[in-house]
Amino acid sequence: MSFEVNTLFLLTIDVEAILGLLLLLVWVQSTRVHAVAWWASAHLLRAVSVMLYGLYGSVPDLLSIDLPNVLLFSSFGVTWNGARVFNGRDALPGSLIAGAGVWLLASQWPGFEAGSEVRGQLSALIIATYTWLTAYEFWRARREPLVSRWPAIVLFFTDGAMFLLRTPLNALLHGKDADTILSSAWLSVLSLEAFLMTIATAFILLAMSKERTELRHKTAAMTDPLTGLLNRRAFLQDAETLLQQQVARDRPIAVLLIDLDHFKSINDRFGHAVGDKVLQIFAKTTRAGLRQADLVGRLGGEEFTVVLADAGMDNAYLVADRLRRAFAAAAAMVDGEMIHATASIGVSVIVDPRQDLAKLITLADQALYLAKARGRNRVEVAPIEVADEIAELPAIVRVERSAA
Ligand code: GH3
Ligand code: MG
Ligand code: MG
Repeated sequence: MSFEVNTLFLLTIDVEAILGLLLLLVWVQSTRVHAVAWWASAHLLRAVSVMLYGLYGSVPDLLSIDLPNVLLFSSFGVTWNGARVFNGRDALPGSLIAGAGVWLLASQWPGFEAGSEVRGQLSALIIATYTWLTAYEFWRARREPLVSRWPAIVLFFTDGAMFLLRTPLNALLHGKDADTILSSAWLSVLSLEAFLMTIATAFILLAMSKERTELRHKTAAMTDPLTGLLNRRAFLQDAETLLQQQVARDRPIAVLLIDLDHFKSINDRFGHAVGDKVLQIFAKTTRAGLRQADLVGRLGGEEFTVVLADAGMDNAYLVADRLRRAFAAAAAMVDGEMIHATASIGVSVIVDPRQDLAKLITLADQALYLAKARGRNRVEVAPIEVADEIAELPAIVRVERSAA
């Protein structure tokens, strides 16, 4: 079975163009994963390149610039860029023109005329380098399971090898003097390769969108929708893990329990929507005032919790007081309204490795209660004997407490 060279050109152009447009559609419609846009452009560049080969195949140097080759080499650079973007690495804008640039420079060398052997070998080497770099990017994409990466790794690697073996392959199929670019065997191999490459890309896309959906669900299940902080369940889970880690390493840990002051009257005066804004400002200020390793959660309503890793008594007090001041300053103006929103904070620090999270939260809650009782907009640290002090508070405060 043998195809006309022209038929194969058309087939290759069609396959490349369809793949390019399909990937472009995928990019615009659903994933918005930018790697896909890079791959789409690579296929489109290749379609144009092959088209120009078909038009100018017998006179490859178009306007003395070797345009089909420049496009072809760019397309492999673009694919490599896509793989880098897919891997969360910065795209190297240089890499997409590097191939084209090398080609342009090289094409000016004497003895480098079309059809020369050195020209064929160099072009094969450049393309092989690009496809192997692409294969390598897929190899190092460790966050994806290997089973979804291997088709891409194998195909991109084979692709490079195929380009290097192009001359012997053509000699084998068409005899020694065959035109290595225009032979029907070579074009068949190219179309087949483009087709397989896209199947590999589809595999990766599938794995990628599955992973993204899972991540979205997981994040949604862990996050409080109003503030974006950890929700109660996720916070307690993470705090427990952190506590165990700190105890195992003999490091301190502190719990902050935070309740906004007179929040009911803010809602009553300004409306629930403004109340929600204040909660968001609080969440943002708190998160911004802490280190990455610290946990912030919304326990519910206008109550928040913070776990400070590596904070002893003094340090925890300082952090809490800084948060208190930062919030009071940040919440001054909401939607053009002057709002004086403040928060009270109770702090507890682990003093005994046998203390569990529940115990620490209870202690912080008692300290918070003291902060409220002592006038609000303040920080109290739970002393060991905090329970006794609670007992000494006026009865009225205790009643208010149990009603809350
Ligand atoms: P205190 O200083 O003693 O804490 O007084 P408070 O008014 O803040 O009292 P409390 O903490 O018991 O009040 C909780 C109020 O928080 C009740 C409710 O109106 C308000 N609240 C709870 N959840 C939300 C929410 O999601 N959005 C808004 N806007 N308000 C909420
Ligand atoms: Mg409150
Ligand atoms: Mg409350």
